[in-house]
Amino acid sequence: MAIKQLNKTKKVVKAEKKVIPPPASESSEQESDQSELENDAEEEEETETATEKEETKNENVTFKDLGLMQPLVDACEQLKFKAPTEIQKESIPWSLQGRDIIGLAQTGSGKTAAFALPILQALWNNPSPMFACVMAPTRELAVQISETFESLGSTIGVRCVVIVGGMDMMAQSIALSKKPHIIVCTPGRLQDHLENTKGFSLRSLKYLVLDEADRLLDMDFGPIIDQILKVIPKERNTFLFSATMTTKVAKLQRASLNNPVKVEVATKYSTVSTLLQYYLFFPLKQKDSYLVYLLNELAGNSTIVFSRTCNDCQRITLLLRNLGFPAIPLHGQLSQEKRLGALNKFKSGNRNILIATDVASRGLDIPSVDIVLNYDLPNNSKDYIHRVGRTARAGRSGKSITFVTQYDVEVYQRIEQALDKKLDEFPVDKDAVMLLQERVDEAQRFAITELKEQHATRGKGGRGKRQFNSDDKDRDDDSVQAGAYHSKSGAARGNRQGKKMRK
Ligand code: AMP
Repeated sequence: MAIKQLNKTKKVVKAEKKVIPPPASESSEQESDQSELENDAEEEEETETATEKEETKNENVTFKDLGLMQPLVDACEQLKFKAPTEIQKESIPWSLQGRDIIGLAQTGSGKTAAFALPILQALWNNPSPMFACVMAPTRELAVQISETFESLGSTIGVRCVVIVGGMDMMAQSIALSKKPHIIVCTPGRLQDHLENTKGFSLRSLKYLVLDEADRLLDMDFGPIIDQILKVIPKERNTFLFSATMTTKVAKLQRASLNNPVKVEVATKYSTVSTLLQYYLFFPLKQKDSYLVYLLNELAGNSTIVFSRTCNDCQRITLLLRNLGFPAIPLHGQLSQEKRLGALNKFKSGNRNILIATDVASRGLDIPSVDIVLNYDLPNNSKDYIHRVGRTARAGRSGKSITFVTQYDVEVYQRIEQALDKKLDEFPVDKDAVMLLQERVDEAQRFAITELKEQHATRGKGGRGKRQFNSDDKDRDDDSVQAGAYHSKSGAARGNRQGKKMRK
């Protein structure tokens, strides 16, 4: 059906001629030795000297000027994309010429549309099933990429499937048998289907995208990608997008790209100018009081609070709920269904405080985030950039506040060094914070009791790693905001306090 739609209108719409010159290119030789990727245990290190951000010479360039056909220009308009972002301006003319691309772009730069638009145009010009495969490091990112393809390609009837772990294999096999145009996947599950799903192959693939390549390789997907590269056509286009150019990414690039154009739109470790970054320094024991104080002060904003561990993520969520805050957790020990559910509730504004581990810090497109709170310091400056990149996206403004305790000073200083700037301290009324301590401590005790109960349930149920699957069975979902949440462990008392606490 969709292919017919693609076929039917194909002759009517033609791509416009490019009117801007493509940017200066840098090519690199392809190395056929793909085994280089295997057993690559090298430590990640930065190899590329960061190039200066390209001056925006072509300020008023439109999507049409880039060479995109009218239905895609219309789709951009419908999505309220007023003008192409830097990465789109710099890469799309090359992609439309059929070149392979290495895109080094910071989060929120519009890189998904940068690779989706040229693929959709090529699909229009030469419709065929299994046209493109996009690999992403996380399931959530894969879902988002697919959504972007679907919204940009809605007028041309594109069909996408998402092939990720944690979902039913059989349903995915059926979806694959319907010959979609675009497959968005995590590498492990794709390989599983390549090996076990009868009749499924990527022999007709025309485009391969490796998104967040540095993260894919950090997560040890290298050997799987290496295997997949062996069973897809060598005659294809490849787009490799990464936040940073590491040795591993450089190797993957050599193994998978052919004479690529390198497009870099941000310097290493840079953050966008619309992001206001602050820190707060206090003793560790006051951490939760500061968190509660800030969430009260910043009430009404959509906020992501980053914690280091799944356990902390869960505890903070319970603590905040006990105080009446509409918090929802997102971490790697929730079931896939729960993770997507959490994300959707947050995106839709149903919950406006997301407590997340770093699983959520990369690639997720949550456009309306106003504030990022680093409750726990990230391990390194790269993770810091990715976390704060959740706010101030695509030209919007945003704030980040990083908590620093007596134990974090060294790591924090390293982050400031990498950012090459000293952050300002976020202004707080310290007396007001101290006044919260007692109530926060009490809610904390309830949260810990609840957490222990969850652990005990998990022990009995033998749930293993997916310990928080049944975490609260959405019992909070409709009642927390109304302030009516009750539980055996006495959280109801906490919540009553919460009602007093919330402004
Ligand atoms: P990405 O970097 O692909 O995750 O995109 C970040 C956000 O920017 C997403 O919400 C996109 O919908 C949005 N976006 C992408 N391209 C544009 C554009 N040209 N103008 C405005 N917003 C955009």
